[in-house]
Amino acid sequence: MSLDIRIDYPPRVQLANLPTPLERMNRLSREFGVEILFKRDDLTGIELSGNKIRKLEFLLAEALDLGADTIITTGGAQSNHCRATALAATKLGLKSVLILRTPDPANPPGPEGNILLDLLAGSELVWVTPEEYADKETCFGKVEEGLIARGRKPYSIPVGGSNALGSFGYIKAVTELIEDLKALDGDELRPTTIVSATGSGGTTAGLLLGAILSGFDLTVHGINVCDNSAYFNDEIGLIIRDFRERFMPGLDPGAESLIEIIDGYVGLGYALSQPIELKCIRDLAFKEGVILDPVYTGKAFFGMTSELKKNPARFGERIVFYHTGGLFGLFPKAAEMAEVL
Ligand SMILES: *Cc1c(COP(=O)(O)O)cnc(C)c1O
Repeated sequence: MSLDIRIDYPPRVQLANLPTPLERMNRLSREFGVEILFKRDDLTGIELSGNKIRKLEFLLAEALDLGADTIITTGGAQSNHCRATALAATKLGLKSVLILRTPDPANPPGPEGNILLDLLAGSELVWVTPEEYADKETCFGKVEEGLIARGRKPYSIPVGGSNALGSFGYIKAVTELIEDLKALDGDELRPTTIVSATGSGGTTAGLLLGAILSGFDLTVHGINVCDNSAYFNDEIGLIIRDFRERFMPGLDPGAESLIEIIDGYVGLGYALSQPIELKCIRDLAFKEGVILDPVYTGKAFFGMTSELKKNPARFGERIVFYHTGGLFGLFPKAAEMAEVL
């Protein structure tokens, strides 16, 4: 029986181009002596590329069911999640308001990278300071009130679309991955370790839930690109707890203890790059013709390969690295990138 049949999915709108390819990185696999596959979730679409679309399929279905006409969400200035939300909302005939973080809201960054796409989606941008951003409830509350006063019906999505409902996107992704792996292995799947970037935790939460529910020998590691492992143990633990309460009371009570965050690769901080990380992105591009982003996948991949250099057996014989997208975040860093070319 397939996993999909056992899970009672909430309503979903189809936005992503699925299934995404699972590609073997031949030169990389040879270099590290383990099989390294990339799950190309950067190919869920062009404008709607990346991991956030899988979560938005469930979140926006709920917004539509509730009769919302405007989606509110939040993130950093170059947020991939905000860009994906803005474009997906427009595709569904909804409006969007993005609450974006910037050091000086009176002088926000120009229309480059994801911001350009937010504007093309017709989104309304609300700039806030990092201090204001830290108090999400107040930020969302103010925007919601303003919209309601204008007769609109808002629906708010948390940072990264990371909550219990959004995590269904990556539970479903695991069922897709299992089909990909069956195409390689037949029904006897070889043990596989999944590695991905952790930015707000929803992807890691969904992958872990999917792995637990699948019953296959799948291990899930997140490499955090901001904050630290204690923070993400809490955040992902909360998502899993909410998921259990809202959707699956029978979920294994030990699920939270399986969260495995690999800390140590935040580098200079969220969205800040070091030459060694950019060189790692360059080397992979030269080797395999695959482009990572500097904010998430580049740091996670740098982390994964650094761990493999220390211990080639760290992740077992087969790794699936989730390429979660983010290409547009590379362009605002073109000058820094050019220095290592
Ligand atoms: C948001 C994002 C992530 C992290 O996913 P979370 O679910 O927020 O942890 C990874 N990669 C890219 C490109 C992203 O935009």
